[in-house]
Amino acid sequence: MKYWQPMHELSICQALLGEVSAVARAEHASSVTDVYVSIGPLSGVEGPLMRNAFPVAAAGTVASDAALHLQQAPVRVRCEGCGAETEVAVNRLICGRCNNWRTQLISGDELLLQRVVLRTDAAGRGQQCVKPAAAI
Ligand SMILES: [Zn+2]
Repeated sequence: MKYWQPMHELSICQALLGEVSAVARAEHASSVTDVYVSIGPLSGVEGPLMRNAFPVAAAGTVASDAALHLQQAPVRVRCEGCGAETEVAVNRLICGRCNNWRTQLISGDELLLQRVVLRTDAAGRGQQCVKPAAAI
């Protein structure tokens, strides 16, 4: 299993770069300088492996010099008893208000492209920040 893990992150990075390239094309950017991604702790995606895979997937794309910024997303559940939405620990998905264990996960298992910073002219002067907020 462990052997295949980096391949998993590589294919995720390739999907991520597909999104990033589409944003860059739509904004007529010359290059991408920063990519901000939020990782849910339950997404099964390993941050360090993402960091390793990103430059490999980015080589030869408009984002080949981009820096990858990873942010940990909170885990939130909705209680089936009292209806409260609370932030919880990864290993303890119970209602933060009434301790009910019957909850539904509402966030924490997603991978989101949050922000892309683009260079908008060839001289690298103009910078633009785009917020696609796309799930990968
Ligand atoms: Zn509750």
